[in-house]
Amino acid sequence: MADCVICKIIKGEVPAKKIYEDDDILAFLDVNGAAEGHTFVVPKHHYPIFEQVPDPLVGRLFSVSNKISTALFETLNVQGTNLFVTNGVSAGQSVAHFVINIIPRKEGDGINLQWQTRQLSEEEMSTVELKLKDGAAHVGVTESEDVIEKPIEKRKVVSGREEDYLWRSVNKKIG
Ligand SMILES: [Zn+2]
Repeated sequence: MADCVICKIIKGEVPAKKIYEDDDILAFLDVNGAAEGHTFVVPKHHYPIFEQVPDPLVGRLFSVSNKISTALFETLNVQGTNLFVTNGVSAGQSVAHFVINIIPRKEGDGINLQWQTRQLSEEEMSTVELKLKDGAAHVGVTESEDVIEKPIEKRKVVSGREEDYLWRSVNKKIG
């Protein structure tokens, strides 16, 4: 996408410290990272949100992330890593291009990923459980390898309503 800063980095129009690259995936250092070695792992195709990334590519993105995490342990002597995805504007996603963040951690580094816990009643928990079980009934069905080659428009949308919403909210924020 023309206005996407991550697509510009992928095309080499915006400079970045690239640490890994293959046909489908790029990993580069976050210039405003939370810690030394904070890395972004991204698909080279412009997928705004997680749900749009084809299953085989999701697998590869996390496999690459795992290896970069290992490299951080080995080369920068970090003691831990956080891997996280901000998926949708409400979750803090600021660029409409799917990103896996790898944040190197050391004891006492002051990086705060804590949140207040929220106690639900047994009834509330059961309601959520039932809704989610229903919604997750098909999670074991994965897409085949050839989906990577198909453009996003041709792919089957698993739950169009949510994707539509996220897509619109992400584009609104960017536009
Ligand atoms: Zn992009």
